[in-house]
Amino acid sequence: MTTPPAPDPVEAMERFLARIAPYDDPAAEPVATVDLRVGRLRGTFPLTERAARALTEALNRWADPDDAGRCGDCGGPLGQDLVCRACGRLDGIFGATVARHAQRVAERGD
Ligand SMILES: [Zn+2]
Repeated sequence: MTTPPAPDPVEAMERFLARIAPYDDPAAEPVATVDLRVGRLRGTFPLTERAARALTEALNRWADPDDAGRCGDCGGPLGQDLVCRACGRLDGIFGATVARHAQRVAERGD
């Protein structure tokens, strides 16, 4: 098994802005600046309005790969196992089925 390469946010930002550049107004003035420091690497990125909007949209769209939604009971985050990390409830149809079965078993006194 190979280990994934260490994340490089400076390089990622450079590639992100390079993707936007062909569509941006070459005369547009920066409206914001993002400074990134990763170990000894530094990156200062002036953002035009288009780039700032694109970065904002990208950050807002991002979803954690471990995010499986919200708990139907308390609204806490669910893990990939559909167990609520806040209250421990097993969520979803599978969770409801397991909870019903557990209740029936408890009522029978097994
Ligand atoms: Zn919960």
